[in-house]
Amino acid sequence: MKKILITGGAGYIGSHCARILADEGYEVVIIDNLVKGHIQAIKDFKHYIGNIGDEDLVAKILSENKIDGVMHFAAYSLVGESMKMPYEYYSNNVGQTMSFLHSLIKQGVNNIVFSSTAAVYGQSDVSPITEEVVLAPINTYGETKLTVEKMLKWFNIAYGLNYTSLRYFNVAGAYETGEIGEDHNPETHLIPVVLNVALRKSDKLKIFGGDYPTPDGTCIRDYIHVVDLIYAHIKAYEYMSAVNTSDIFNLGSGGGYSNLEILNTARKITNCEIPADVEPRRPGDPPILIAASKKAEDILNWKRKYDINDIIATAWKWKKSHPDGYK
Ligand code: UDP
Repeated sequence: MKKILITGGAGYIGSHCARILADEGYEVVIIDNLVKGHIQAIKDFKHYIGNIGDEDLVAKILSENKIDGVMHFAAYSLVGESMKMPYEYYSNNVGQTMSFLHSLIKQGVNNIVFSSTAAVYGQSDVSPITEEVVLAPINTYGETKLTVEKMLKWFNIAYGLNYTSLRYFNVAGAYETGEIGEDHNPETHLIPVVLNVALRKSDKLKIFGGDYPTPDGTCIRDYIHVVDLIYAHIKAYEYMSAVNTSDIFNLGSGGGYSNLEILNTARKITNCEIPADVEPRRPGDPPILIAASKKAEDILNWKRKYDINDIIATAWKWKKSHPDGYK
């Protein structure tokens, strides 16, 4: 049985990774400092509380567990916050990751799947976005993820550490049982924010911008279900370790939905009115972000199972059963 170390396993995506790896017969070990994560999400798994940059702790984890591969999610991930706190973002996302990679190399752990982001592309005019599109982040968050992608490239050349960087587009939805889901504070992502209005936790959705060059004037994004996303990680790990290679893949659906389309789909699924107003644009939002995911489909043999209705329906199931998140 393969044993995978998950960093950030108490967060939204990391907790789904832990659950699905266990479903698929992997052994799971988690490291999380619980700054953003939730202890309730990892109580069923072997876990260590601390920073990934703590080389003594990571050495202990690696000596107590024979780790075959790593899935690395631990990071700060709020774009707006990253613009106000670049030191913290570089220190956490880049500095801690560098120490962590050093620990892996020392112990001979050779395979890492890295959680990257579409934010490495910045405001691209190209649609859909392929992996070859120019890399030009427009925020600190995207820049820190790109810095780690580059670090992985050089560590691969020098130390033979295999990596797969996965550039996520808009991740949403929840595990089908509704036991785990997205719980951020503050919540800024469109789908959970829309569902908070459906739950009457806030009065109205603010739609940021109605004058974009899109058919209905609102921004278009490419949504991918968190469960589909995790299956891509498993495929990536299996491929990387079998073929002994490193690569980079986009993960999205290849199609886009406007903010108004998301609102209307959520109204239909929740059967709630969900009042909304169009407000001024939010700085830094590109009009359209759609992934070309063909490379992951072709090379990793990955296929999506869930569409936008499933994404909103599973997110709603989680929200209704956990209106205050893990609290
Ligand atoms: N958005 C919105 N109102 C909100 C939150 C988000 O209109 O309360 C819009 C946002 O401006 C963007 C889209 O929803 O056009 C997706 O934003 P999100 O923050 O979910 O993800 P991003 O694409 O920024 O990673």
